Amino acid sequence: MKNFDEAIAQKGLELPLVEEFYSLQGEGYHTGKAAYFIRIGGCDIGCRWCDSKMSWNPSLHPLVSIDVIVSNALKTAANAVVVTGGEPSLFNLKPLTEKLKVHKIKTFIETAGAKPLTGNWDWICLSPKRQSPPDESFYKIANELKVIIYDDEDYHWAEEVASKVNKDCILYLQSEWSRYEQNIPAIVNYVKAYPKWNVSLQAHKFMHIP
Ligand code: SF4
Repeated sequence: MKNFDEAIAQKGLELPLVEEFYSLQGEGYHTGKAAYFIRIGGCDIGCRWCDSKMSWNPSLHPLVSIDVIVSNALKTAANAVVVTGGEPSLFNLKPLTEKLKVHKIKTFIETAGAKPLTGNWDWICLSPKRQSPPDESFYKIANELKVIIYDDEDYHWAEEVASKVNKDCILYLQSEWSRYEQNIPAIVNYVKAYPKWNVSLQAHKFMHIP
């Protein structure tokens, strides 16, 4: 990955901040709940349909101290922070989560599971990508599995990863956004046929919020 600074990533005291904002969660188990979002730069998984391509190169984003990030979150009424990316597992997130915990902020993460997770998390959403399978450690700790359906091959991938996660992990299928109209009928039928799955909608996109 271009200009990825391993030393900075390992310290976790500054993070390449793509954006931060207060909104509602739009996907998965916590849909509809308010949260402060922190999008960290850096990802080399290369999903062709990625809607966060601006996050791929971490050097394009300012390194921001976690003290500043936490104080910005505290200016809102948020009681939960969602750390997303990019691929946040590339960074040591222990310092960030410790600071959030001091302020009794719940810590949620959205990750493809590229590297073993650091930090103290209240909710782990694993969204694995088939071209870059997650670190095996995530299967035991994921609270939620969210598989993006782009084409039919993704159903096989969904079943493969679902067979590995812990028994309490909640299973979601979510259409890739640009294919929502064409994919959703098949996803609905799939969930009816295999009711261990749930549908996740990108509700924030329907609400026209970030
Ligand atoms: S893992 Fe996430 S950020 Fe990385 S390319 Fe795929 S969708 Fe984009």
